[in-house]
Amino acid sequence: MRLRSRFDALLLDLDGTLFRGHEVIPGAPEALSGAPEDAQRLVYVTNNASRSALGVAGHLRDLGFAATEDEVVTSAQAAAHLLAAELSPGSAVLVVGTDDLVAEIECVGLQAIRRFNGIAPAGVVQGHNPNTAWADLAEAAYALRAGAVWVAANTDATLPNERGLAPGNGSMVAALRTASDREPIVAGKPFAPLMEDALTRAKTRSALVVGDRLNTDIDGAHTVGLESLMVLTGVSTLEDLRTQPADRLPTYVSDSLDALNHPVADTAPIPADAQDIAAEIAARLREHPGRAIPVSAPPAADD
Ligand SMILES: [Mg+2]
Repeated sequence: MRLRSRFDALLLDLDGTLFRGHEVIPGAPEALSGAPEDAQRLVYVTNNASRSALGVAGHLRDLGFAATEDEVVTSAQAAAHLLAAELSPGSAVLVVGTDDLVAEIECVGLQAIRRFNGIAPAGVVQGHNPNTAWADLAEAAYALRAGAVWVAANTDATLPNERGLAPGNGSMVAALRTASDREPIVAGKPFAPLMEDALTRAKTRSALVVGDRLNTDIDGAHTVGLESLMVLTGVSTLEDLRTQPADRLPTYVSDSLDALNHPVADTAPIPADAQDIAAEIAARLREHPGRAIPVSAPPAADD
């Protein structure tokens, strides 16, 4: 049985899994297009809070993926849902982020503001925006000192781009953490809110998390008790598995997304006491080209 056929839904990471920056990962659209006989739900799950679900779906379609707006779940949406649950309707929320994040805040019945005079906002929401400046962080710091609920879309320290690793939202969150002596609630992967939003959208808990990063995608799968496939097309490498805690390993590892369309390699999971997990998996990947390698037992079904 094909790996993907064992699940009712795939929760797909974007950057490093489907594309790298502006370039599609070769074979990725084809790997996902072969719809199984049963209707499998594809949910595109992104920590990037700078663009709307509509914008993300458009980018995916430009790259050859058959994505629709309602199949995209963003950390901006998860952050807005968190604030809507915490605050009364119409509450003012100071936005450090893009206009698309402003739109998500307004979409859940909260009032988005950029500056405040005197009356402290009830919430602060923080997502990546390349134009965030000191003045924006200062407004947020005043609001946090005045007791506003603080939600960060994600805490990714870095943001890969064509020139290298730029500061991600987590680096800007770190500045506010230092300035305010507060800790944010985090919406994005590896935390539960975005993962739960994705499961709600998938309308099933029979879902496989597919992603390239151990500290977001794979840890996020463990947060909500799901199986995961780590693809080696992005940030995390086999070497990184050496420092990943034994109870937070991916369920499977593969060279590419197309392993979804084949049975899992017929080989025992890597023993927990393996001398060198990276070398063990590399050897199995060579022995079973195109297949996913079982690495660890599926997580317990509780969450
Ligand atoms: Mg990724």
